[in-house]
Amino acid sequence: MRNIIFIAPPAAGKGTQSNLLKEHFGYIHISTGDLLRAEIASGSKLGMEVKNIIDIGNLVSDDLMIDIIQNKLTGIKGKPFILDGFPRTLNQAKVLDEILDDDYEVIYLELDKEDAIKRIEGRLTCSCGKSYNLNDEELKPKVTGICDNCGKKLVKRDDDNVEAFIIRYDNFLNNTKVLVDYYNNKNKLHIVDVNRNINDIFNDISRIVAND
Ligand code: ATP
Ligand code: MG
Repeated sequence: MRNIIFIAPPAAGKGTQSNLLKEHFGYIHISTGDLLRAEIASGSKLGMEVKNIIDIGNLVSDDLMIDIIQNKLTGIKGKPFILDGFPRTLNQAKVLDEILDDDYEVIYLELDKEDAIKRIEGRLTCSCGKSYNLNDEELKPKVTGICDNCGKKLVKRDDDNVEAFIIRYDNFLNNTKVLVDYYNNKNKLHIVDVNRNINDIFNDISRIVAND
């Protein structure tokens, strides 16, 4: 099993596809957004600092993110993993190159701004990692406001509003999108159109994972 790196604009479905890959193939899912939100929930000083950055839609510093990822990758001891949310800058990608062998594939989840903003507006999330969307009949929770998976209360992320989205999307265009060329030049890139239903997207991704 190849390791997977997801590159995507906000709300493209990295978390949803990572959960499916984890369920079907047993990957370890490393979501930097989830790790940062857990740090915030712990009430630590570091959590308070990153909350101010994340809530307005900005990127956390490369140094902190690299530290977090290095620790995580050491902890999983060579098991196959998915990176969801890292790298997000060219600097992060270059440092990652020094850590990883060549055994990974990069999947770019392609979604335009208008579709992404609609998803952000309707999104509710659970602390267990599952996301829902109130603007999509198929993606609504069975019971209003409650996670189908674990029964916990769904919440709206503090950065899931139009103002923060615009900054997040601009950060994606200005900092992250260069990684598409970067990995294409290394022959690592697979592009998946994610303006489709979850299962069709997952089938495409499964094929990429199986062929490599
Ligand atoms: P999605 O909508 O698919 O969950 P996202 O990009 O909106 O993706 P997360 O990946 O959950 O959200 O990340 C949330 C926030 O955490 C980012 O907006 C950013 O502030 C911070 N963050 C996460 N990963 C990184 C990273 N590699 N470098 C810098 N900041 C990061
Ligand atoms: Mg996510």
